[in-house]
Amino acid sequence: MTLDEKLEGIYDDVLRRNPAEPEFHQTVHDVLTSIGPVLAKHPDLAEHKIIERICEPERQIIFRVPWQDDAGEVHISRGFRVEFNAALGPYKGGLRFHPSTNLGVVKFLGFEQTFKNALTAMPIGGGKGGADFDPKGRSDDEIMRFCQSFMTEMYRHLGEYTDVPAGDIGVGEREIGYLFGQYRRITNRYESGVLTGKGIGWGGSQVRTEATGYGTVFFAREMLRTRGDDLGGKTCVVSGAGNVAIYAIEKLEQLGARVIACSDSSGAVHAPRGIRLDELKQVKLSERGRIARYVELDRDATFVEHGNIWDIPCDLAVPSATQNELTRRDAATLLRNGCTMVVEGANMPTTPDAVRLLEEAGALFGPGKAANAGGVATSALEMQQNASRDSWTFEHTERRLESIMTSIHRICAETAEAYATPGNYVCGANIAGFLRVGRAMVALGLV
Ligand code: GLU
Repeated sequence: MTLDEKLEGIYDDVLRRNPAEPEFHQTVHDVLTSIGPVLAKHPDLAEHKIIERICEPERQIIFRVPWQDDAGEVHISRGFRVEFNAALGPYKGGLRFHPSTNLGVVKFLGFEQTFKNALTAMPIGGGKGGADFDPKGRSDDEIMRFCQSFMTEMYRHLGEYTDVPAGDIGVGEREIGYLFGQYRRITNRYESGVLTGKGIGWGGSQVRTEATGYGTVFFAREMLRTRGDDLGGKTCVVSGAGNVAIYAIEKLEQLGARVIACSDSSGAVHAPRGIRLDELKQVKLSERGRIARYVELDRDATFVEHGNIWDIPCDLAVPSATQNELTRRDAATLLRNGCTMVVEGANMPTTPDAVRLLEEAGALFGPGKAANAGGVATSALEMQQNASRDSWTFEHTERRLESIMTSIHRICAETAEAYATPGNYVCGANIAGFLRVGRAMVALGLV
């Protein structure tokens, strides 16, 4: 899709000033493609150079993370925290520990997070961080030492009113525990609201673990409702086998759908009679093993080594692994096999040309910055509970999550309608998020 002249100039500037950051370029392009009509309606946003300012992170922190493995060997990892935009609240967004993490990836995630957080209508700005550390195969002690070293630099940039990280790929409750422990030790403050995704026994929120996956499915349900349809009897393929995928599968099954495949970086599992959740949780959450092990526990399933999960026919695809995992070729295969809907559980898992193909074919497409916002929304609920020294029940918290997802769906659908792109959730999410952040930035002045 093409940009108008003014936006083209802004995009060229982003390319020039941020070389070799393809994921960041991709997400900026995606947003710029949607917001042309907004500037025509709201010239004040252009006058205040809101787009140019939104594309420039408020602060970018890169630091050395030295740590020792169990054999005593020293390793040097690179840590990041990109504090993107705090117009709506403290910087908020997860930490990713994965060898592919670099500044461009963290910036793409921080940019997405800014819009996503705005869509939740909760008081949270956007940020993201992580390290190029590979947790795969590392012992518990190594993970702890790494987290402690990471926090020894990071703590000075954080605070419940400043910047509040959480998990992302490679960072779950265990890592948040070690990070929080080190923060508490250095600062001598039991500042629960400085991190989210904590354990239930020490300041965490019910439903936070499930929230991203559950939220994605609630969003999918709302999308289907616009077509007078529901999830009952739908055949689904969910890529990934991490937190997002596992709890998306759980909620899909609860709502009457059948999930027949999931995957990890080693391959895919095809279970035509439906993925068995207890077994999947045992392999991925308890044993922290590879997905191939699942077929030892479910004899009806087959393991496709390095197989492409999108070759498996389904009604609904939920990419929940990582960025750019669903390509144009995959989208063509999905469509050919009768798939009518793609909802993103991960951040930017569908390539732009795949999104275009799906849209042209009239498939429903739910972009991650709206569909997977349930995780960060529940983080904001965790912050609320920490601030009031309260803890809510699972049922209450899940109802809050459900109503937040319904609201996000409504604002995306209504905005798409108002800007003459009915049914286009990409435009709806980008425009609604941009308007919320942009208006707050104008109100706060040139800072
Ligand atoms: N990493 C998650 C996301 O992509 C959650 C962030 C958070 O809870 O702060 O939205």
